[in-house]
Amino acid sequence: MNVTNEFTIRGTRCLVMGLGAFGGGIGATQWLAQQGAKEILVTDLSSAEKLKDSLAKIAPLIQSGMVRLRLGAHELADFQQAQLVVANPAVPKPWTNPYLNAAREAGAHITTELRFALQHIPSRRVIAVTGSSGKSTTSALIHHALDGFNGNRAHFAGNIGGSLLQNCPQIGPNEWLVLELSSFMLWWLGPDSGNAHWHARVGVLTNLCDNHLDWHGGAAHYSASKSVIRNQSADDQIFLSRFDIESPEQAAVWSALPAGQWWKNSACHGTSAPPNPRLGAHDALQKYFQSDADYVQQCMPHFESAKLIGEHNKRNALLALHACMAALRIDNPQLDVATTARALAAKMNLFTGLPHRLSLAHEFNGVRWIDDSKATTPPATLFAVKSFSDTKKIHLIAGGVSKGADLSSIMALTPRLAGLYCIGTSAQELANAGGIYCETLENAMQIIRAKLRHGDVVLLSPGCASTDQFQNYEARGNRFAQLATECDQIAKVSKV
Ligand code: ADP
Repeated sequence: MNVTNEFTIRGTRCLVMGLGAFGGGIGATQWLAQQGAKEILVTDLSSAEKLKDSLAKIAPLIQSGMVRLRLGAHELADFQQAQLVVANPAVPKPWTNPYLNAAREAGAHITTELRFALQHIPSRRVIAVTGSSGKSTTSALIHHALDGFNGNRAHFAGNIGGSLLQNCPQIGPNEWLVLELSSFMLWWLGPDSGNAHWHARVGVLTNLCDNHLDWHGGAAHYSASKSVIRNQSADDQIFLSRFDIESPEQAAVWSALPAGQWWKNSACHGTSAPPNPRLGAHDALQKYFQSDADYVQQCMPHFESAKLIGEHNKRNALLALHACMAALRIDNPQLDVATTARALAAKMNLFTGLPHRLSLAHEFNGVRWIDDSKATTPPATLFAVKSFSDTKKIHLIAGGVSKGADLSSIMALTPRLAGLYCIGTSAQELANAGGIYCETLENAMQIIRAKLRHGDVVLLSPGCASTDQFQNYEARGNRFAQLATECDQIAKVSKV
């Protein structure tokens, strides 16, 4: 089932819970006003000072009295009076949240900005991507390859930021939407949120590892929320994942949870996937690739000239390529897969990556400062380290909010590195295996500066969230880049 017109806004008392900094709350507020809401209350636990950039964007609505604010705290009475609540998907544990419960009990309709937006977009044009790591890069690669390919137009939205609601009018009926979805967003799109189970025409899972366990309360809930990306009762969905092919041991661990092996037999499994007569698209793909191994063997060489750093990004590209071909075959089942794959891959090879994902922040005297601030899980940090041939040249800065993840795999890297510099809430724990306790990014950069040698890499790949010391991962990455450029003036890099 897909999202239909669930609720009429005109004349209703609306509440936006969580204005946030990434655009969703702003978009929802503006849209509710455009739709003729009777009144809109925006409430957020953050202060006006912290939210000043977002507040500036809705200033005319505040000044006109259309929008009222309740900042620094939530009030139960506000939720009891609302007829519609648009919750920020990151609101902690929405299934037990006392404010949302109060709204539920009072009969309010509760939803998210994304659900509203999806009412306006035909699902057969949506490619949705999730996973513990690689979802932004994979989504961006799909978008980069599809947009402009053979006259196709593609848009990119979701967890990447911004407001889909505000962008809906720009998305034509025959255009593609590539949607990056977090586990929080998926929970809101699934049946447990009390709404109908939405599905995309093409669903993609990159991988699973411990992430956001504090929000979900455990891996079982995390896996169940992620599983919403695959709607097993939808006849028309093509689901793609190479998780169990690439990481069978990891997949076996996740299989033991109540949600089970929901990624199993995806269309990536070639002939071993059970045929679905209604899905001509991916059955036909098997004419060209007998199995996933065959697909990898034929397509991986196309990525030899890829601009993205790291083997994991080649895997992201492979999955993205599969998703693009699945999408294109919906319109044109006769598509020449081999030629199309080559052309799409050539386009993907030009993609230089998203900011804060293994991107070169600075280079000076043979030293590279690499910003991988978006690496907020330990496996992401391990992949980042693996992307460089000589680990003994890597000064790794890690730490922050662990989100309940086990950090021992990062600690185990210590003897193989030039140094592990530990920052943030998890600094003490991370430093236990011989790492250097630095507490802050500034301290870490100062200590590293004195040790740099020609050919070294200073890698910010924290394996943890940033919110204990920074507004978000972008602020952390930007600060790193700033500190890196300051090294120019003082660094004495030994040529060895
Ligand atoms: P997400 O949106 O899931 O956080 P990103 O594409 O933004 O993923 O990448 C975040 C970090 O995760 C990157 O900096 C990289 O270090 C790591 N990463 C990217 N793709 C993968 C992958 N396929 N497997 C493991 N780690 C990855």
